[in-house]
Amino acid sequence: MVSLEDIRAAEDRIRGMVRVTPIKSSASLSALAGGSVWLKGEHQQLTGAFKLRGASNAVARLGDVAGVTTASTGNHGRALAHAARARGLPAIICVSSLVPQNKLDAIAALGAEARVIGASQDAAFAEARRLQRDEGFALIPPFDHADVIAGQGTLGLEILDQIPDAAAIAVPLSGGGLLAGVAAAAKALNPGIRIIGLSMERGAAMATSLKAGHPVEVEEVETLADSLGGGIGQGNHLTFPMVRDLMDELILVTEAEIAAGIRHLALEDGETVEGAAAVGAGAVLAGKLRATGPMVLILSGGNIDPARHTAIVKGET
Ligand SMILES: *Cc1c(COP(=O)(O)O)cnc(C)c1O
Repeated sequence: MVSLEDIRAAEDRIRGMVRVTPIKSSASLSALAGGSVWLKGEHQQLTGAFKLRGASNAVARLGDVAGVTTASTGNHGRALAHAARARGLPAIICVSSLVPQNKLDAIAALGAEARVIGASQDAAFAEARRLQRDEGFALIPPFDHADVIAGQGTLGLEILDQIPDAAAIAVPLSGGGLLAGVAAAAKALNPGIRIIGLSMERGAAMATSLKAGHPVEVEEVETLADSLGGGIGQGNHLTFPMVRDLMDELILVTEAEIAAGIRHLALEDGETVEGAAAVGAGAVLAGKLRATGPMVLILSGGNIDPARHTAIVKGET
């Protein structure tokens, strides 16, 4: 498990590599939630999502390696590419041939190689493992890794530094690295704080796994919260038990609620976020999430196609 000491050490290690992001109150969401609601702006993190915290900590902890690799094309891939460049290390992001050109371009723009291999995510993972085995690369996974969790946990320290009387933190939940880290930090400092996980109804692997009592595969389906998709890994050894033990409540939101969250945050709060980051606002709007004391919603990322965002805000999708 990951301790408060690990997270404090991560905070020292990544200081200056990541942005201390702003937090602001939302008058409209506070009125709807029945208590003060704060928005933690990780969509304004360098690389556009909190994942830079975990990737920076993991890369900073590496000894002598030939480079770093992963098979994530989303916010983790971007974060790892950025963190590797900051340390002067080569990064190879393994992707399948299904990944669109704009994502390949974004990886290349961060100075990393996007290695297209095979027609499935499994083939991409196999290449990342081969680089680890045969070429001396470090494979940094997106969530189930102690250094990644500790890095994400620095967000919990930062939130309690900014809002010391926070009574609850609402955390977008996929593989659980963010929730595990934030909960480990926040509960160590304030055992009474409530940690609420939020996932989409469609294809939430952690929710299904918690119900089953062990990691299970779920079918991957399209969702507006694309950064919350994907499995938690059959061999999950850290985030599954940490989320199970530290999360107080899990709320699932519909696609319409996610869209409403994106729209509300844009029109009422002036924030452009991706679907994964809008689950908290969507839950408040749907009456599924109330504030019984100061409540912090983590706006976890802002990497959304601008045309898609505009269409959602206009109510076209
Ligand atoms: C990765 C990600 C999440 C979920 O984080 P986990 O550690 O996988 O639970 C939430 N929001 C955004 C924007 C992400 O990129």
